[in-house]
Amino acid sequence: MSKRLERLKETAYKEALKSNGIHRHGAIVLGNGGRILAKACNNYDNGCHAEVRALKRVPHDAKECAVAIIVVRARRNQRFGLSRPCVACQAALKAANIDVVYYSTNNETLEYETFHENEHRPVFIEGH
Ligand SMILES: [Zn+2]
Repeated sequence: MSKRLERLKETAYKEALKSNGIHRHGAIVLGNGGRILAKACNNYDNGCHAEVRALKRVPHDAKECAVAIIVVRARRNQRFGLSRPCVACQAALKAANIDVVYYSTNNETLEYETFHENEHRPVFIEGH
């Protein structure tokens, strides 16, 4: 994993620690070049998942720049847990034109999935 992606993973982890829930997730929406456009944790009071809350926080004039999201789960007995977006969040990410989602796994790595085949590849972060 690139140093940059590693740093973004840690930033998402800090966001996850702010969650008031049993399952704590944090998400960061990224623009081209890995610029951070918005951050959020999940919120149990309104049932909102971190991915959707982060998307809503992207400034209006930056919505077209959003290309990727990182979502992680912070656990208590180990640092990271599996945080693959649920079906509803995947649909919201696709609708927001997000190209790639990085998510934490149970073994400290980030996996990724792309939503829009033949468009952007996740190299815009991996190469940095
Ligand atoms: Zn979800």
